[in-house]
Amino acid sequence: MKPKKLIGHFRVEPGTKAQLKDRSTAWAGSKRLKEDGKERAKKILEETLTRLAEVQEILYADDRYALLIILQAMDAAGKDSTIKHVMSGVNPQGCQVFSFKKPSAEELDHNFLWRYMRCLPERGRIGIFNRSYYEDVLVVKVHPELLEQQKLPDGKRNQAFWEERYQDINAFERHLVRNGTVVLKFFLHVSKDEQKRRFLKRLERPEKHWKFSLADLAERALWDAYMDAYEDALTATSTEWAPWYIIPADRKWAARTLVADLVTRTLDNLDLKFPPLSDEQRQALAQARAQLENEASEEA
Ligand code: ATP
Ligand code: MG
Repeated sequence: MKPKKLIGHFRVEPGTKAQLKDRSTAWAGSKRLKEDGKERAKKILEETLTRLAEVQEILYADDRYALLIILQAMDAAGKDSTIKHVMSGVNPQGCQVFSFKKPSAEELDHNFLWRYMRCLPERGRIGIFNRSYYEDVLVVKVHPELLEQQKLPDGKRNQAFWEERYQDINAFERHLVRNGTVVLKFFLHVSKDEQKRRFLKRLERPEKHWKFSLADLAERALWDAYMDAYEDALTATSTEWAPWYIIPADRKWAARTLVADLVTRTLDNLDLKFPPLSDEQRQALAQARAQLENEASEEA
């Protein structure tokens, strides 16, 4: 598959259904990649990360755009390790990661977007949301008691309620995009079987025990409800200005390579440039250079 086609393959086309059930979680690259897939993917990832570091520097210098990367997934789908790998090549000064857990009392006292707004990336920066306001139409939809805690005015919590939340999210993201924040959204699509394998691995290896929580099993039992919530949310919020990408995540190396590629490609497609110098600035630089060169040497 050609790169452009490849990207289209993973995007949820706005106005169409996400169709999670029909999407493979086990994609392992094109035919050519499959032969020595893992090794080749590693090499591609390395090259992509080199380019990402370069383009991040221009993003920073250009100082007009910000990039918001949203990662959503079921437990053990590899959000943490994707972040670790994809960001391993970037300058930490230009990048921030926020992980969103259960909201605090103060957060619950505000509208549901408030806590995320406070963490948005500044111009020139990359911001990563490990979970995001999408939890408010996912876990909160699957667990109605969480919605009770949000202390909203009375009203029906029917499909229309969730449609309004999707609309609010779409309007919020459109606002961000219009103001220079590019929004990239990834759903790491892992199969239920692969999640089981990864949970078992966590239970087998002492150094992975800390990653396992009994609560994860309770959520696993609600797998179908989560898939329905994801299906609805991804369908309703994949827009021209902020489309969703569904990344097959059963093979971690394939997921990482795809995410890194999409992040880099997105930045590459912006009209980024180092800020041009005015004649005055150019003169000032020439003067500074002459001054330094004419300094008496303190060595010797
Ligand atoms: P990991 O398990 O890899 O450390 P995680 O993102 O699963 O990462 P946890 O502390 O296990 O982190 O779980 C965070 C929990 O917080 C998740 O179950 C998630 O659904 C929940 N959560 C996040 N945002 C909200 C929200 N707005 N309302 C209610 N629960 C939320
Ligand atoms: Mg967890």
